[in-house]
Parts: sequence; structure tokens; C-alpha cells
Amino acid sequence: MMAMAAPIPRPARYLLRFDDLCPTVSHERWQQCRALADEFHIRPILAVVPNNLDRDLRVSPADARFWRELCSLEQAGATIGLHGYHHLRQSRGRSFVPLQRSSEFAGVPSHWQRTWISEGLDILRHHGLNPRIWVAPQHGFDWNTLRALKAESIHLLSDGFARVPFVRGGLTWIPQQLWAPLEKSEGLWTICIHPNTASAAQMDALRVFLCGHAHQFTSVDSVMAEFPLGALTLAEQFHAHMAVRRVLMARIKKRFVGY
Ligand SMILES: [Zn+2]
Repeated sequence: MMAMAAPIPRPARYLLRFDDLCPTVSHERWQQCRALADEFHIRPILAVVPNNLDRDLRVSPADARFWRELCSLEQAGATIGLHGYHHLRQSRGRSFVPLQRSSEFAGVPSHWQRTWISEGLDILRHHGLNPRIWVAPQHGFDWNTLRALKAESIHLLSDGFARVPFVRGGLTWIPQQLWAPLEKSEGLWTICIHPNTASAAQMDALRVFLCGHAHQFTSVDSVMAEFPLGALTLAEQFHAHMAVRRVLMARIKKRFVGY
């Protein structure tokens, strides 16, 4: 019988994840993010788009130092994430984490998924990086994605709404549930920040949170070393399911009520 996932940690632990990184990421915000990680000794997940074709991620002119800077961040303890391939959303397949209607990967035939993942990993490795965790664009991924990742020796992913890391489909899931800092009493929480769209106020809020909670931040390596891994309990599966519903309801409310 498969081992059960870790007990929920108390006090809470946090991971920081920076998304949509590519050479044309907002230069100003990305420099601020890097400075914060450096100041507070945070070892974040860096979700990198290997071959970006998404116009929304072309915010600043391509930075020639981008890849070198990522290498030094990885040497300092950051974990490199493979964030899709082109970062386009052309498929409407159903995802494990159904937060978005369309995505790059969910529903795409398996051979294409395998090719994109394999080529994406090659590109990142060519730049001297060691990608170790999958970060699905738009939370879009399915069983074929998991199979392709395992075939390419990627056994970690950052997604899901449980409060502990767990094993599903042969991969270890490190949940990602927050898009802004929020104080929690228990659980492991990944806070995802998008440098391209983060406002000055959001960056200030992150700084304030780090001032008070930097000691609670951990890294992918520490999570893998410290948390026992296994399948989620039924109670935690239910919690995760309800958490997804709450996020979806909040989005619908925002769309129709306008706040
Ligand atoms: Zn993205």
C-alpha cells in the first residue's frame, strides 16, 4: 500500500515562485524580484518559458544577461522550472487543475507534448540550467503530460491545492495555491508572482510579508528532504477540491460583479 502524504506542517511554510521568465520579462520588476530573493535569502522556483511566442511576455527588450543571471540564481539554491514550451494557449482540453478554459498542454496529443517537453528541456540545458520541476502554463496538464514528464525524467511539478506535497500519477506535486502573500497558520503554501504584471503595491506587499516571514520560507530541495511523500488522504483531497472551487467562484464573482 502506498504511504500517506506528510502531516500538515504547523506553523506554515512558504515557497516563492516567479512565473513567465524569459529574456523579455519586465526588466524592472524582475530585477526587484531578484533583489528581494537575494535580500531575504529565498531560494525560489523560477518558472522559465524555453521558447516564448506569447506577446504578453514581451514586456522589455531581450536581456542578453538573462540566462547567465538564471544560472547564478540556480547556483544560489533556486530551482529551475520548465514553464511550458511556447506559452501559447491553443488547446481546450480538460486539466487536472481546471482553472482556465484553454492552455498550451491539456488535451494535446501525447507525441506533441513529449516533443515540446523534450525540446524545452534541451533549450534550458543548452543555457546551462538544470530544469527539475514542471510548472504548467495556465495550470493546463493531463495524464499525457505526466507520462511525457516521467519519460523525460522530470518527477516534480508545482501545482494543486492540497496543503502538503504528495504523490500522484508517479510524480511529486508541490502545491501552488496563492498569487499574493497571505498569512496562514499551517500548511505548505507556494506564492506565485508574475513579474510582468505585478504592480508596485504588490511588490511592496511581498516585501512586507518577507520582512515578517522570511524564516518560514523553504526551498524545493528542503521540501523534498523534509516532507514524507505519499498519496493524499481523502480528507485532503476533499480540501483541495473545495479550494479549487473557491478560486473558481471568486473569479466568476470578480468577472460579473466587477471587484
Ligand atoms: Zn505563465
